[in-house]
Amino acid sequence: MPPARPAGDSGTVTEHYDVIIIGSGAGGGTLAHTLADSGKSILLLERGDFLAREMDNWDPRPVFVDGKYISKDTWYDGEGKPFQPQVHYFVGGATKLYGAALYRLRPADFGEIKHVDGISPAWPLSYDDFEPWYSKAEHLYQVHGNGGEDPAEGHRSQPYPSPAVSHEPRIQQIHDGLAKGGYHPFHAPCGIMLNEADRPRSTCIRCTWCDGYPCLVHAKSDADVIAVRPLLDRPNVTLMTGAEVTSLETDDSGRSITGVVVSRDGEREVYTGDIVVVSAGAANSAKILLNSANDKHPAGLANGSDQVGRNYMFHNCKAVVALAKEPNDTVFQKTLGINDFYFPTKDYAYPMGNIQMIGKSNAEAMRGEKPKATMISPEWTLSDVARHAVDFWLTTEDLPKPENRVTTDADGNVHLAYEMTNDDEAFRLYGELRKILNHTGMAEHHVLRKNFYMDMDIPVAGCAHQAGTCRFGADPATSVLDTNCKAHEVDNLYVVDTSFFPSIGAVNPALTAMANALRVGEHLRERLA
Ligand SMILES: Cc1cc2nc3c(=O)[nH]c(=O)nc-3n(C[C@H](O)[C@H](O)[C@H](O)COP(=O)(O)OP(=O)(O)OC[C@H]3O[C@@H](n4cnc5c(N)ncnc54)[C@H](O)[C@@H]3O)c2cc1C
Ligand code: SF4
Repeated sequence: MPPARPAGDSGTVTEHYDVIIIGSGAGGGTLAHTLADSGKSILLLERGDFLAREMDNWDPRPVFVDGKYISKDTWYDGEGKPFQPQVHYFVGGATKLYGAALYRLRPADFGEIKHVDGISPAWPLSYDDFEPWYSKAEHLYQVHGNGGEDPAEGHRSQPYPSPAVSHEPRIQQIHDGLAKGGYHPFHAPCGIMLNEADRPRSTCIRCTWCDGYPCLVHAKSDADVIAVRPLLDRPNVTLMTGAEVTSLETDDSGRSITGVVVSRDGEREVYTGDIVVVSAGAANSAKILLNSANDKHPAGLANGSDQVGRNYMFHNCKAVVALAKEPNDTVFQKTLGINDFYFPTKDYAYPMGNIQMIGKSNAEAMRGEKPKATMISPEWTLSDVARHAVDFWLTTEDLPKPENRVTTDADGNVHLAYEMTNDDEAFRLYGELRKILNHTGMAEHHVLRKNFYMDMDIPVAGCAHQAGTCRFGADPATSVLDTNCKAHEVDNLYVVDTSFFPSIGAVNPALTAMANALRVGEHLRERLA
């Protein structure tokens, strides 16, 4: 951590706003959207720029092999080894590249859950508290789905705003095989602007370049297109790009933020707001708070509990490729989910997690991810492998361990110490997938020999689902934020990205961040009224 400064050192103030939001992704972008019609002056500070629309958006080589849209940041792991984190600094944040699988957490995820490696703690609020906000978020982000199909889902007060995205023939076959085998595959919830009833007028063209790519035609429900862009004409909303927040300053009491320090075009600027909301992504939000230490907050801003930066989670994930002799010509593959193993089963006392499809493999992208693939199946080219692959994404909950944490060094750089938890559950989930594929007719056609798979574990740099560095809770001794996501120790400071998660469940996190931003937005509207 850089040395603490004296509190009250605000420097030259450039402009004052009612609300300053730092970061324009799932949390910050959604919050700006919901506050915009309050009439309050809002400054949205985003370190990135708009992501350029260009053919590279849909080209696996620049996207996956060259990492064109990944930040050039260097972070350091627990041993101090440098790595390039897979983070994305654009208007819309990580949602510009996300797969738009927009799941709700399950009701049980809000309670305490026993895992093989320990306890996933309860949230201070319940699924019922979040349910109305999930519905609103699903409407805002135009989520497609069929309520009632997913055996693990909670009750919903409103149906999905759009019908589920249909399965293509190969995926329908897998669905039917699984259903026949007694499983409960469901249509995965998905935020794309696809109108299957009127394809000529549909914004989404149902292409194969969705998961991990930016959408060239702006048909993905990302935070840029859905939340931020519609605000740009509003006189009360200012979006400032290329504006990296480096620290926050407080008054002499340490109870109030009096300056948001920004580095823009190499210059130091300071903005003030009645309310300041940090939403820079779980690691970067912790970085900002830790780098804002002053004599009233010597361990980092709002860090009297020593919880800022701790409890970092990013899911225990596996990308698995099942190979069959017959080709898989699916274009948009992310339509199917399996939650039969989300909770403990009669054969295993712990939850295993969620199985979903991911974007279709292609040779270029696989080269970026797994150069060894050709060695595993020497008689096939990568193109053969990609053409025949059926691609699954396995997600197991990882636990919020205090030692899995973000810290910063004297120069303010991020250090991320992380050790995976619940490997046994993840391994079992993988085993269950292998077993259930026997019901899909795939095993008979497996390449090389029955049950041939490649699996890819996600290293620490794959921080797509990062969460948990500023958890919310009722007790200031064990949490950073209160249940409104306001810092316990600072009266005008909020955090609304995935940092607030006390646990992460085993489904994708973005919808929960969006729903929570809408919830906190309602609280802020009341506070500012
Ligand atoms: C390839 C990929 C696929 C994914 N697929 C899915 C999926 O299918 N479903 C799902 O639910 N989730 C998915 N995710 C995760 C999802 O995108 C994130 O959970 C979500 O975007 C997190 O929201 P956030 O607000 O916490 O952070 P972000 O959306 O990342 O927003 C943080 C913002 O803060 C900005 N910022 C950072 N530091 C500063 C600073 N110092 N000053 C100013 N601005 C700053 C960043 O540029 C960024 O715009 C995926 C992520 C990736 C990378
Ligand atoms: S599938 Fe639709 S939303 Fe996804 S990248 Fe293609 S056009 Fe965009």
